[in-house]
Amino acid sequence: MSSSRRPRSDSVAARLQVAETLCAERGRRLTPIRRKVLELLLRQQRSLKAYELLEEMRAVHPGAAPPTVYRALDFLVEEGLIHRLDAVNAWSACQHAEGQPHDLLVVCTCCGTVAELSDPEINRMLAERISHTGYVPATHETEIRALCPQCQQQPHEHHFHAHSH
Ligand SMILES: [Zn+2]
Ligand SMILES: [Zn+2]
Repeated sequence: MSSSRRPRSDSVAARLQVAETLCAERGRRLTPIRRKVLELLLRQQRSLKAYELLEEMRAVHPGAAPPTVYRALDFLVEEGLIHRLDAVNAWSACQHAEGQPHDLLVVCTCCGTVAELSDPEINRMLAERISHTGYVPATHETEIRALCPQCQQQPHEHHFHAHSH
């Protein structure tokens, strides 16, 4: 649950280990490229856009091509290890890959940080309302566009542009 704080086991190395274990249990392979992409995201306190990830990858693997990185991202999303954030067109490492499923991703559209929340009751109500429209949700996660505490302090500094066009 989001209230439990486990300071040391949340280190990048520990979370990579959790990812390895989860993939192994499911018979999926966390290849070196996939692992590296996950590591880059885990090292960040915020989400990363495709070009930022590609730049970071190329610092380690100079030949890294965009399709390779995109395929790694798809894999990591499928395995629930990272989140694809449409609100800011970026990806973030899942903060509780091994724990409770969380349904609400509160995304700061200014800096790209994410707060992950789990509230089965809200999700159940949402699913019920949506079912009345005849639609079926394509994902079990709901993104909420928000402003984090830091960005509320500096409303004029937009260093992470959600819409570049
Ligand atoms: Zn998550
Ligand atoms: Zn922010």
